[in-house]
Amino acid sequence: MREDLLHFIWNFQLLKTREFVSVNGTKIRVFHPGELNKDAGPDFFNGRIEVDGIILVGNIEIHVNSSDWLKHRHENDKVYDNLILHVVYKHDKSILQNTKHNVETVELKNYIDAAVLKKYNSLISSSSALPCSKQIRNVEEIKIQSWLQRMLADRMESKTDYVKHVFSAAQNDFSQTLYIMLARNFGFKINAEPFELLAKHIPLPIALKHSGNLFQLEALYYGCAGFLNRAYKSKYLQQLQNEFEFFKNKYKLIELDSSVWKFLRLRPANFPTVRLWQFATAIHKCPDLFKNPENYNTVESLLQAFSYTHDGYFSNHYKLDGQEVRTIKGIGKKSVENLIVNTMAPFLFFYGKQTANDRMIESAFECYEELPFEDNVKTRHFTKTGLKFKTASESQGIIQLFDNYCKNTRCLDCGIASNLLFHK
Ligand code: SF4
Repeated sequence: MREDLLHFIWNFQLLKTREFVSVNGTKIRVFHPGELNKDAGPDFFNGRIEVDGIILVGNIEIHVNSSDWLKHRHENDKVYDNLILHVVYKHDKSILQNTKHNVETVELKNYIDAAVLKKYNSLISSSSALPCSKQIRNVEEIKIQSWLQRMLADRMESKTDYVKHVFSAAQNDFSQTLYIMLARNFGFKINAEPFELLAKHIPLPIALKHSGNLFQLEALYYGCAGFLNRAYKSKYLQQLQNEFEFFKNKYKLIELDSSVWKFLRLRPANFPTVRLWQFATAIHKCPDLFKNPENYNTVESLLQAFSYTHDGYFSNHYKLDGQEVRTIKGIGKKSVENLIVNTMAPFLFFYGKQTANDRMIESAFECYEELPFEDNVKTRHFTKTGLKFKTASESQGIIQLFDNYCKNTRCLDCGIASNLLFHK
């Protein structure tokens, strides 16, 4: 028996009854188990019980064995003098401190439903990546949805830590923050770091100054990315090189070493050379997104901001001076959705919190509600069980749940497990 399982059982009262007989033969009735305390001090605060007809309100301590009281060195701790109940799985020792302060001890061993333990054991012994995969369909949909909503809120908060960090590095400038975040997202994990670095090398005001001229933006980005410092046969690339040389001197720009960019195992459409062009085009087509980001707070406006057709040299070259290919399509719908989910919504949420603008916070959640469910390795563990999901708010909640709970078998902290173990 684990103490955290006892906490869980007591917290949700997964017991055969609410009426107990203490080890001294006293009748105890539990009205409220108390609030679980994960910090120092008694395990449950503000429990409400009846002991021999007298109502008591106060703290409750839980142990696997009564003797754990001594192991945990409570005997010299005054905090434990004013308990209302000591709950143990097995009563193996009388505790002087409890006797002195008239604290009754309840032994739970015979009150725990064997089915609960069986279900719990099957959960923690499961070798599946989703330990509850066989039972989760027994949980009411509304309970799963409500837990996923809570997970989504946690995910937003944890993303906020990253945005906060970028915001402070950007001297509390919202536009520059969005610019850095978006650049990082255009790197789509594999090239996120060099993309972020590149954006830091070309400050937003410079990019915006040249936003009206895509050729100049291309010179800035491909040049600073380190792609223009070799000999090219293409006239267009030679022109870009000349333009970049001019900007480099004018703005004292620093080039990245092109070896930082990764091409391996990427489909050509995801090559950084293609993503750079898409990023430059985004700035060219919608500079207002960076100037007034608060105006782009709906999925519709964001889809519009990122939907553009491409032309020019990079519309048919995956790599500089590579072979000419058929026209490369603009940024795909899935990629735009990814940008909204991973950058725009967390940015709007942060913006709303910083400026006390509830509408922006709502907009962030609306984006998740309106975008479709994301199919990926993590969410597939849940859809494979037969559960049906529709929106990005659900997939975001599942990602948070999987990373922070399922992966570490933290089922005892999970709102789905409490419903699962309740299920008859
Ligand atoms: S943490 Fe929750 S969702 Fe994940 S396996 Fe355990 S009970 Fe299931």
